[in-house]
Amino acid sequence: MTRMVRWEPPLLPVLGQPAFPVRQAWCVGRNYAEHAREMGVDPTSSPPVFFAKPAQAVHGQSRVTFPAETESLHHEVELVVLLAEGGRNVSASEWADRIHAYAAGVDLTRRDVQDRLKKAGQPWEISKGFDQSGPVGAARLATEWQPAAEHLISLQVNGVVRQQAELGTMIWPVPALLERLSAEFTLQPGDVVFTGTPAGVGSLNPGDRVLARIDGLPDLEFHLAST
Ligand code: MN
Repeated sequence: MTRMVRWEPPLLPVLGQPAFPVRQAWCVGRNYAEHAREMGVDPTSSPPVFFAKPAQAVHGQSRVTFPAETESLHHEVELVVLLAEGGRNVSASEWADRIHAYAAGVDLTRRDVQDRLKKAGQPWEISKGFDQSGPVGAARLATEWQPAAEHLISLQVNGVVRQQAELGTMIWPVPALLERLSAEFTLQPGDVVFTGTPAGVGSLNPGDRVLARIDGLPDLEFHLAST
């Protein structure tokens, strides 16, 4: 008897294009100085912090089930990069042709779980990589939209602005970030990169409606269901 093992990657919509199959999600911490400071870190003394979410955490659903065992589910609005090609040790100037599209996303974080694990010196995967922890909006091709310093990135909860910044306040712009990330990992087609969040992260509650917005990209909207 033979058994075929099959799996399907999560798919993200891209405006006017076939859906994008997600292979892996990479994330960066502390890429906006104000957010680094609110987390108690000196932004001038620390290089970018990289971590991963499993592909299965990434989705385009408008309903997110509130995760278990947290009293502090934090929102982190982020510019998300979708890669058409990857590579190892790829310099900043070589990334332009390899970026397929951009989208608005949210890096959902069980902050209380993360704080506990950090204090214990343990890995914090479970605070960042739980199911549905990476909602991403429809993406727009890189040939149609490029990040610019004056583009605003923002997040609203129930219509109230919680986070807002200009993309130009990123410490590591996308090409520099990808250069650094590709020095650590061989990046591949299908990889998505969450590029860090600006200041103003805070807690979400069941029933909240979240709107993540980046100038020129489709809005990401989802609500938190209690079960
Ligand atoms: Mn983040």
